[in-house]
Amino acid sequence: MPKDIRYLKGVGEKRAELFNKKGIKTVEDLLYYFPRSHEDRSEMKEIADCVEGETVCISVTVFSPVKDVRVRRNLLVSTMVVCDQTGALNVVWYNNRYVKGQFMTGDEYILYGKITRNRGKMEMINPVFEKKGKERFTGKIVPLYPLTEGLTQKILQSSMELAIKEAGRLDEYIPADIREKYHIAELNYAMKNIHFPEDFDSYNIARERFVFEELLILQLALSGRKDENTVRDGVVFDDILCVRDFVETLPFPLTGAQKRTLNEILKDCKSGKMMNRLVQGDVGSGKTAVAAAAIYTAVKNGHQAAMMAPTEILATQHMETLNEFFKGMDINVVMLTGSMKVKEKRLAYDMISTGAADVIVGTHAIIQQTVEFYDLALVVADEQHRFGVEQRAKLASKGNNPHMLIMSATPIPRTLALILYGDLDISVIDELPPGRKPVKTYAVGENMRKRIFAFLEKNVKAGMQAYVVCPLIEETEKSDLQNAEMLAEKLQTIFPDFKIGLMHGKMKAKLKEQVMDEFVRGEIKILVSTTVIEVGVNVPNANIMVIENAERFGLSQLHQLRGRVGRGGEQAFCILFAHGSNEVTKKRMETMCISNDGFYISEQDLKLRGPGDFFGTRQHGLPEMKIANLFEDRDILAVSQMAAKEIMEEDPQLSSEKYKGLKRRADKIINEDIVMN
Ligand code: ADP
Ligand code: MG
Repeated sequence: MPKDIRYLKGVGEKRAELFNKKGIKTVEDLLYYFPRSHEDRSEMKEIADCVEGETVCISVTVFSPVKDVRVRRNLLVSTMVVCDQTGALNVVWYNNRYVKGQFMTGDEYILYGKITRNRGKMEMINPVFEKKGKERFTGKIVPLYPLTEGLTQKILQSSMELAIKEAGRLDEYIPADIREKYHIAELNYAMKNIHFPEDFDSYNIARERFVFEELLILQLALSGRKDENTVRDGVVFDDILCVRDFVETLPFPLTGAQKRTLNEILKDCKSGKMMNRLVQGDVGSGKTAVAAAAIYTAVKNGHQAAMMAPTEILATQHMETLNEFFKGMDINVVMLTGSMKVKEKRLAYDMISTGAADVIVGTHAIIQQTVEFYDLALVVADEQHRFGVEQRAKLASKGNNPHMLIMSATPIPRTLALILYGDLDISVIDELPPGRKPVKTYAVGENMRKRIFAFLEKNVKAGMQAYVVCPLIEETEKSDLQNAEMLAEKLQTIFPDFKIGLMHGKMKAKLKEQVMDEFVRGEIKILVSTTVIEVGVNVPNANIMVIENAERFGLSQLHQLRGRVGRGGEQAFCILFAHGSNEVTKKRMETMCISNDGFYISEQDLKLRGPGDFFGTRQHGLPEMKIANLFEDRDILAVSQMAAKEIMEEDPQLSSEKYKGLKRRADKIINEDIVMN
């Protein structure tokens, strides 16, 4: 039983609560609260060698104890003089009521602080101090932790020191043979050195261990869930050449990447094994046409196919797109969504179960228990990151192992795709149809608002439409954020001649649909919305995308949003209103301005997000990383992948004693983190 953090010395109920807020419930949790950086306090200097601007450790004797001087009402200056064999030094604290009386003449102390110059004389300001012989956080490399309200650096440092001591010998759970093979440090060594390293080499060795461990456990957790899905028999499509008849009817030639992907799909469908394929392609790369070709082939082979979308709006669009593709082909496409009337649904169910429906397009409603298929052989799931692994499994169980084709417009680096979708084969559509103009992107500040609105007006007058995306719907207490409702009103007064539409997640599906319809028909000129329009929606006449509070969005999300425009032949524009001077924000905006390549952008996204950061992990159904950075640590990722594979081959259920500890941790991830999918 892991020890509750409350029982750690110096941690009472109150402090325990503060720890709990950070997700630290046990001493073990605390040990896994890794430092964000370290401060090198290991080098001791003599006073004579101190240089202005340096932060140093000195070993000194108190020459004259602290004197307080109140300089102003809100400025208390405390001064003391210390010396060593080489000289004397003034030590100064500002607004520290506690230092007075702490020091006696002749006492010996270690001080760690910054050297500055004041009226020509060197002094040390606001140092950390410890009695000589009782040093804990001076004279060595000291960890600095991410802080949280009420928990100071000192509290965290000393709690951690105690935790390491009290925990005693930790049970290693990465077996020795694996550690040896992959040069991974032992747990106790690593735990000590991740917090209190002897030197920075030891720290790096320790860090590598925990990155390896984190990625290994993640992969063990994910692979456990994949097993059953992989090698199943699948329906055989005897005639895959019939797809040519479909391709001939298209108003455009397929791109090379589309052809390659389609070939890979159809080979799977003929193989006798169930297909589990992910198609990754940037927005606008033409995934739908490929999916339609696969669906056509399924139907011509006498089977049913289904296409699932995350929202009703998207499902409706797919319905229309497919009907357009299949015009005059005697293919019956039927819609099934949650918001349909009972009567409509019943009719749809009938058509699905009797085989009168060749193609079923819809939302999650498709995988409900009540739906019975006549002969479902292919399922296409669009924009899959909204679909969890569980839903995939559920779908797979419908009918007799239908082939699964998953379309994702969130390109992710291959390394990451392999962890996330290790059970899937991956096709990449890495080529856009010819003639596409990259969206011109600008990051601007508030000072540009007038000009941007004028730009909007000019373009709408010229017949174009625009999206304006906000991160929020309702007013919150901190409302320097643009919210959709207010912005829509404001725009309506600025542009009385254009119809402004509003769409957000809390609206009823019917109303959303109505608004979307009006936008598609061109009645609404400017659509103000939250991110509900993020995926898939296609309105070729919309060529301006304005994103408010762009600093609130992750890179991949910004790229997704931008993908809504530039779908017609006209030059499209994306305007990012970004606030604040945060470095990461700046880099994100810069990346958006220089690149339209989804793969490049997602890689930058990973790079810019540190460990513990989301990197849209929720979106991908991944837990938060404590220490690994999936971009920077991709070498260790590759190694941990090999190890995970070996372990799974040796003991797929992790049931042996050897893997008990790893199993416990992998189970924890599954139970805690991935459920929100
Ligand atoms: P995605 O779903 O990958 O974002 P779509 O399938 O919606 O992209 O395709 C975007 C647009 O490009 C659609 O209007 C589609 O008809 C068109 N398109 C698809 N493939 C081609 C192609 N090979 N050549 C020209 N246009 C294409
Ligand atoms: Mg699409």
